[in-house]
Amino acid sequence: MRFDYYQPKDLSDTVSFLIREGANAQVLAGGTDLIPRIKDRLVSPEYVVNVKGLTELQGMGKEKDGFRIGALTTIRTLETSSVIRRQFPLLAQAAAVLGSVQIRNIATVGGNLCHAVPSAETAPPLLSLNAQAILVGPHGKRSLPLEEFFLGPRRTALQPGELLTELLLPPLPERWGGVYIKLGHRQAMDLAIVGVAAVVVLDSAGRFQDCRIALGAVAPTPVRAKQAEEILRGEKFSEAALTKASEIGMGECQPIDDIRASRVYRCEMVKVLTHRAVSQALAMAQNSKGI
Ligand SMILES: Cc1cc2nc3c(=O)[nH]c(=O)nc-3n(C[C@H](O)[C@H](O)[C@H](O)COP(=O)(O)OP(=O)(O)OC[C@H]3O[C@@H](n4cnc5c(N)ncnc54)[C@H](O)[C@@H]3O)c2cc1C
Repeated sequence: MRFDYYQPKDLSDTVSFLIREGANAQVLAGGTDLIPRIKDRLVSPEYVVNVKGLTELQGMGKEKDGFRIGALTTIRTLETSSVIRRQFPLLAQAAAVLGSVQIRNIATVGGNLCHAVPSAETAPPLLSLNAQAILVGPHGKRSLPLEEFFLGPRRTALQPGELLTELLLPPLPERWGGVYIKLGHRQAMDLAIVGVAAVVVLDSAGRFQDCRIALGAVAPTPVRAKQAEEILRGEKFSEAALTKASEIGMGECQPIDDIRASRVYRCEMVKVLTHRAVSQALAMAQNSKGI
């Protein structure tokens, strides 16, 4: 296990270096995924490229087209920021249940998404918030819906030399609520068996103007449960419709049997947690301004 360390001058230096070295170079953000993989000899890069100093990947705040979150934002910042807790509580909830405080202090949201495991904690809330992933590479800057960023387990739409620089969360209307629920074996330091995020937007008559449901750890990538969403969109709340949506959500996942849980149990939990997450998001939306 031997590698060289590269400290790029700026973003364009990083991109040039990544293009030049190709598969020999790996980006290092917090290192909480990368370093254990190097130690376990699952990857053997010749160069580790420390991007922590790149200003383009740092910070967060409101911009004219939405709320921007830099890829280097730590999970702990998402958990504790009063702005995130107030404006995107489901993202703060997901951050609060990732690993331990020590991990959250150095792990980044960009690293969580680029590592691209199905259980990536920040993926379901960001998918249900319709986040856009902003990528910068040798051909400049591009933006794609986060949904299109995940291609498979540990596979993303990042092209050679590209970095995830930031996430953009489009503005939300007044009457909305959102929650993230993680099911794990333990309260801390455990990956999700199932993760469900739900965002509910109500119209002035109290109908579901929009409903977005995202599932983690139950398919090769984090996914939106589009058919379940469709059952509720435009409808007034009814227990029957929510039960039907939750059952349909169960059919939209493709979990595996593994050491954490069986496929059947995961499917059943998708149904239960989808029902719970949408109910809680609905209650939040009903209590938000405007209703
Ligand atoms: C003990 C422990 C517990 C954990 N618990 C959880 C958990 O409960 N839930 C969970 O989701 N995860 C968990 N993790 C995994 C990990 O902490 C998170 O995925 C974390 O957010 C990764 O961020 P990082 O900055 O450390 O990524 P890094 O390890 O630095 O990078 C991860 C991957 O992404 C690439 N990368 C990083 N940033 C960028 C970028 N901006 N552009 C392009 N590529 C990039 C790297 O090259 C690498 O391949 C745990 C890890 C440990 C060690």
